[in-house]
Amino acid sequence: MIFKVVKGMFMYDEIFNNFENDILIKDEIHFLLESDDCSLLFKKSNEIREKYIGNEIHLRGIIEFSNYCKRQCLYCGIQSQNSKIKRYRMEKNEIIETAVNSKYKTIVLQSGEDNYYTDNMICEIVKEITKKGFVVTLSIGEKSYEQLEKYRLAGARRYLLKHETSDVNLYGTLNPRMSFEQRITCQNNLKSLNYEVGSGIMIGLPLQTLESIANDIMFFRKMDYDMIGISPFIPHPDTVLAKSDITSLDLVKKVVAITRIITKTANLPVTTAFSTLGKDKFKESPYLSMLKVGANVIMPNITPLKYKMNYELYPDKSKNTTDNIEKDIKSIKRVISDNYGFRVKI
Ligand code: SAH
Repeated sequence: MIFKVVKGMFMYDEIFNNFENDILIKDEIHFLLESDDCSLLFKKSNEIREKYIGNEIHLRGIIEFSNYCKRQCLYCGIQSQNSKIKRYRMEKNEIIETAVNSKYKTIVLQSGEDNYYTDNMICEIVKEITKKGFVVTLSIGEKSYEQLEKYRLAGARRYLLKHETSDVNLYGTLNPRMSFEQRITCQNNLKSLNYEVGSGIMIGLPLQTLESIANDIMFFRKMDYDMIGISPFIPHPDTVLAKSDITSLDLVKKVVAITRIITKTANLPVTTAFSTLGKDKFKESPYLSMLKVGANVIMPNITPLKYKMNYELYPDKSKNTTDNIEKDIKSIKRVISDNYGFRVKI
């Protein structure tokens, strides 16, 4: 297919024909990211969501069980060098209790990279929770193949490890002493261990270009992730990136919409960062605005109140609420799923 970037309705039409034929290419993605009028894009992505996913929305309860972290990711509020936050760890039994008392069927256990929790502890926690019929997602950073294998054998079914950007140089700048290659190796190990693999990126990172975001979307397709979280980057005041610009939420929505069209059945959560930033910007709950352009998962925070406010990856994170979720979801004619929400592969 020959494609020339000419801005105008004609090109728009051609792009959407290509969508139908599943041959969207990088220049076309770039064009859509640049374009001011997103109405057709959002309409298409919603149609694709309806066709491949249906109206079900999956709720996953997330427990942020420790904010200790050995890493120094430049964007992150809980990175080890931030001495201003109050650090906490939940004990094993408290984590298990919080999970098994939850009304959600799938539980995400997230933390900084905290070596306090031994593999045995993680395995015991996973075992106790899965024993009660919950599906567990781990999101505890990079681990070796052997460690991931232990957690899988203990019953963990999913793992969330975002690579944040597919631009190797930007990744290296933002994540000192970490390597992009290592991150992707870890994701590939998860795949070979038969986990459902979640990844994702941030939008609006310093030095990130639209071309780089178009590459990110192409990379999603190549990696065939089961879940993809697309968040705005929100500068944290106690990090070196404190003075960075804040990105447009429309751009974040566009990335979600294109990702839906390209991946068809991947689980796409409304990221908490999107809801946090959108709090005063939309007439409706921000997560509704994201659900309407292709998202199909929400992750209500079930971290006990006394810890929640200290898991400050970015400002105001803990102020988010999903209190009216059931009513809100009904208002857009969608339904809360009563199954585990595994990704259907086509
Ligand atoms: N340590 C684990 C999980 C905790 S961090 C890991 O690295 O996988 C969870 C996610 O928070 C990160 O993947 C990142 O995408 C997001 N995050 C961190 N700081 C952020 C910020 N300032 N704005 C938006 N999202 C942020």
